[in-house]
Amino acid sequence: MAHNNYALQLDGLSKRFGHFLAVNNVSLNVREFGIHGIIGPNGAGKTTVFNLLTKFLSPTSGSIQFQGKDITNLTPVAVARQGIIRSFQISAVFPNLTVLQNIEVALQRKAGLASQFWRSRKVLDRLRDRSFELLGAVKLEKFAGVEAKSLPYGRKRTLEIATTLAMEPKLLLLDEPMAGVGHEDIASISDLIRSLSNRHAIIMIEHNLSVVATICDQITVLARGEVIAEGPYSEVSRNPAVREAYIGG
Ligand code: ADP
Repeated sequence: MAHNNYALQLDGLSKRFGHFLAVNNVSLNVREFGIHGIIGPNGAGKTTVFNLLTKFLSPTSGSIQFQGKDITNLTPVAVARQGIIRSFQISAVFPNLTVLQNIEVALQRKAGLASQFWRSRKVLDRLRDRSFELLGAVKLEKFAGVEAKSLPYGRKRTLEIATTLAMEPKLLLLDEPMAGVGHEDIASISDLIRSLSNRHAIIMIEHNLSVVATICDQITVLARGEVIAEGPYSEVSRNPAVREAYIGG
């Protein structure tokens, strides 16, 4: 029953590099839907937590439960098969392919089927329908025929997210989705992430605190590898330990 409300539970997770504890006894619970922000100053251990979740790294101690199942010792491929998908890992956007072709490639990769299979007209039609469905979900339909390299930067980030959705994530890990995004695109990408959170659990590492304040339901603040605060932004932003460690108060 414990997993009913939580997609993911980290229990006492630690990662040591030599003598250095990059992640120190981190426990956190991520709900089935909504956006969970991970914030903290540089070197706090945020990326290491993502690397532990995708099994790019193995924890020194602690456990990871996903939908009630212990996934601590799974391989990276097995974790991805469970539906934990990190945005950058599979989101290679091919610059010379169109937006539509990029989505089709991502869907084919997900299906992992022999190329022969794709010669069937019916399958190709289904692939195209699903591609347009995904483009619709991220409001990129009108760019379908545009080469990815010609997209404005904000739309390129959106395409990356769309290729990630092709992997049918249950838990989507977004690593600084606003990095490099201009002021004019922040609202639309925020809206997109918000809309995805109705159907996916999302964990987002993000430095832009006004975005975090606006769209995250829950926040975990890390500093020096430890959780120093958690809760909604209105609470953690008032926490003296957070102000000292991160917000610079
Ligand atoms: P953040 O993403 O919060 O900026 P990181 O998780 O990247 O922090 O890094 C946390 C700490 O762990 C940093 O001090 C970093 O130098 C160290 N670190 C990360 N990866 C390694 C590694 N492979 N070997 C040694 N130290 C590492």
